Amino acid sequence: MLSKEEWTQLGDAVEQLKKFSELYCTGCSYCQPCPVGINIPHIFNLYTYHNVYGLTDYAKSEMNKYKAEAGKTIENCKNCGLCEKKCPQKLKIREELSRVEGILAAV
Ligand code: SF4
Ligand code: SF4
Repeated sequence: MLSKEEWTQLGDAVEQLKKFSELYCTGCSYCQPCPVGINIPHIFNLYTYHNVYGLTDYAKSEMNKYKAEAGKTIENCKNCGLCEKKCPQKLKIREELSRVEGILAAV
């Protein structure tokens, strides 16, 4: 029998897994290099800081720093599709970049 506290912990862990599964980027970097230099794993990792760990301020400030250092974003994407061919998780990288960059800009 699990205690109430253990059930709560289990529920929290399941919730965290659900959030992970929303964008399951392992950070393997097989999608790199992007021809225009978009650091895809970095951007997805920052989104995870916000979405899974609730470190929104950190994620936002790191994203702003990335952009200030001329880090490339979905706006620079040339739609070559190379990243998606190489992603073992079959992520729709362009769609996801657009979505998560929008969220990080709005939070
Ligand atoms: S589709 Fe866009 S993000 Fe993907 S490799 Fe090509 S330029 Fe980079
Ligand atoms: S190849 Fe896919 S899973 Fe690996 S870092 Fe790139 S987006 Fe993430």
